[in-house]
Amino acid sequence: MRRPFIAGNWKMNLNIEEATTLASALAQQTASFRNVDIAIAPTHLALSSVINAVKNTGIHVASQNHYFEESGAYTGQVSPTMLRAAGVAYALVGHSERRTLFNESLAEVNKKMQAAFQAGLLPILCVGETLAERNQNSAESVIKEQIETALDGLSADQVAAVTIAYEPVWAIGTGITASPRDAQQIHAFIRKLLVDRYPAFVAEDVRIQYGGSVKPHNAAELLAQPDIDGALVGGASLTVDAFVGILHAITETQG
Ligand code: PEP
Repeated sequence: MRRPFIAGNWKMNLNIEEATTLASALAQQTASFRNVDIAIAPTHLALSSVINAVKNTGIHVASQNHYFEESGAYTGQVSPTMLRAAGVAYALVGHSERRTLFNESLAEVNKKMQAAFQAGLLPILCVGETLAERNQNSAESVIKEQIETALDGLSADQVAAVTIAYEPVWAIGTGITASPRDAQQIHAFIRKLLVDRYPAFVAEDVRIQYGGSVKPHNAAELLAQPDIDGALVGGASLTVDAFVGILHAITETQG
């Protein structure tokens, strides 16, 4: 059984004070959720303060981005070893906003995956097709390429520790969600890719989150699908009520 994993991506929202206040409130209000893994990804600036606010709770902290080198003359970059040393546990890699707005290439995503593991961070690899790609029936080939290139060079044990977030680009921040049936179809496709390339335990272990306008009212139905193991949440992770509402919805499904 894969443990459900709900992660909140705060993107470029909330200053240090606001992020710390939200993290402290979540620390209090999520204490009763024992059968779910929870992570929050604040801006780099707020990482230390948020890590402190959730210390000794079940909430993990994730970074939104890192560079693939360990140190050196890379002005403005943050290395995975620095993040790990600060207490970060998970690392978002390849979010569609980074791929499209910051031209992050498939090769760069792969380097970031490798660098995350070298530093001891657990990557959450984001993949997903645009609306044009879906309309051209190329969603599966796009996702296949994103996953195969990102995982290239990783050992089976490392791949088993990756979380994959399937995030159709057309569903991110739009209020439009993939139907549970369409999402399940892609999640099953992703798991099959793993079955075909790695020993059986890998596909059994890898958690595949769905992301794209997940809200309290649609989370239960999505998470009830056999290959949907969690959610990567943007907008609805910015308020206690919405994020905790999602946790309630999915734990009720678990019975
Ligand atoms: C995201 O940014 O990963 C995301 C899924 O955002 P939203 O939930 O706002 O669609």
